[in-house]
Amino acid sequence: ALAMTTLDAVGDLRLTGLTKRFGSFTAVDNLDLTIPQGSFFALLGASGCGKTTTLRMVSGLEDPTAGRIYIGDTEVTSTKPYKRPVNTVFQNYALFPHLNIYDNVAFGLRRRGVKDVKKQVEDMLALVELGHLAKRKPSQLSGGQQQRVAVGRALINQPQVLLLDEPLGALDLKLRRQMQIELKRIQVEVGLTFVHVTHDQEEAMTMADTIAVMNAGRIEQLGSPEELYENPATTFVANFLGQSNLVVGTTVAKGDVIAVEAHGHRLTLPGARCQAPSDAVIVGVRPEKVSLLPADAETPSDQNVLTGGVVTDASFIGVSTQYLVKMPWGQELSVFEQNMGKEIFRPGSAVSLTWDPSQTFGLDGRQDIEAG
Ligand code: ATP
Repeated sequence: ALAMTTLDAVGDLRLTGLTKRFGSFTAVDNLDLTIPQGSFFALLGASGCGKTTTLRMVSGLEDPTAGRIYIGDTEVTSTKPYKRPVNTVFQNYALFPHLNIYDNVAFGLRRRGVKDVKKQVEDMLALVELGHLAKRKPSQLSGGQQQRVAVGRALINQPQVLLLDEPLGALDLKLRRQMQIELKRIQVEVGLTFVHVTHDQEEAMTMADTIAVMNAGRIEQLGSPEELYENPATTFVANFLGQSNLVVGTTVAKGDVIAVEAHGHRLTLPGARCQAPSDAVIVGVRPEKVSLLPADAETPSDQNVLTGGVVTDASFIGVSTQYLVKMPWGQELSVFEQNMGKEIFRPGSAVSLTWDPSQTFGLDGRQDIEAG
C-alpha cells in the first residue's frame, strides 16, 4: 500500500526562496510565492523561463538547490514525491494504453489497496463527463477526452494540489478552448488548488484567478488577469499579455494627473496608473482603446492625441479592423477599431490617434520597450 502514508497537509502552497541551478545556470531564481488554497493559479511565461522546473520541485521530481516548499504549515521540501498531497497532469497524458478508461481512473485507488472503488470511480467519471466511455481504451478517445481521463486519474487520489503542465498543449485550438472552460468548471466543483503552467497568455487569462508572469526564473508580476492587463508593471508584461503601444517620453508634470512630453505631443495619464519613479516614462495604451480620426479632423481636447500617423496596414477581421500606423518618429502603433459602421481607413491614409487619458498606463522609462 504505497501512498497510504500521503501527508494530509492542507492549506496554501507556499514557496520561499525557491531556487534551482543547473551547473552555473539559474533556472528558478529565489522564488517567493503563496498560492492560496482552492485557487486556480497560472504560471505564465515563455519557453525556458523556469515554469516546469518550478512545478517539478513542487511535485518532488526535482530537488531545489535552495528554498522551501510548504503546504499549509507542513514543509514538504524533502518529502518523497508519492507522499506529497500533490498530483501532476502532463501534456502527454501518460495513460495506460492497455487499460480501459475505468481502470485508468481506478488505478491510483487500487494501487493504494482500496477495495471498493466503484462509487468513487463512477463519481469521477461523471465529474469529467466520461461515464459513457468507461469501457473504451485510450486510443479510442479524442485528445480532449484523453486529457479528461488524465485529470480524473489524478484527482481520484484526492491531492490537495493539482499541477497541470501545459495540459492542453497537444490539442487543436477549438478543443483547447472547450477544455479551458471544462477544466475551470472541474476546479470550481472540486475546490482544490490548481497550478497551471502555460506559455499561452489567453489560456492563462481564461482560466486563472491569479497569474504569475515568469521571466528568466523570476516572477515579473503577480495579479488577477484584469490587474495584469490594465496595469502591467513592466514592458515585458505589457507585451506578453495582449498587445501594447508603448511610447517613450519625459515627465513634465507630476501629481494626480501626470503629463508627459512625447515626440512633440503632450499626453496625460492618471498618477495612480504610473509605475515610473524616474522622469523617463513609457506611455502605454492598449490597441483597442485607441480610435483613428482623419488627419484633417478636429481632435477632442480632452483626449490624448498623436498626430502625423500614416496607415500602413488595415486587416478586416470581422468584429474589428486591426490597423498598423506608422508615426513620424518611425514607430509603428496598433489600433483595433470595432466595426460598427465606422469608416475603414485604407493603407496610405493620414490619421490621428486619440484615446481617453484614463485608459493610459505609465511604465519606468529605463527599460527596453521591445521586451517581451
Ligand atoms: P518550456 O515551456 O519550454 O517547458 P519552462 O519555462 O517550463 O519552458 P523549464 O523547463 O523550467 O522551462 O527550464 C528552465 C531552464 O532550465 C531552461 O533554460 C532549460 O534549458 C534549463 N533546464 C531544465 N532542466 C535542465 C536540466 N536537467 N539540466 C540543465 N538545464 C536544464
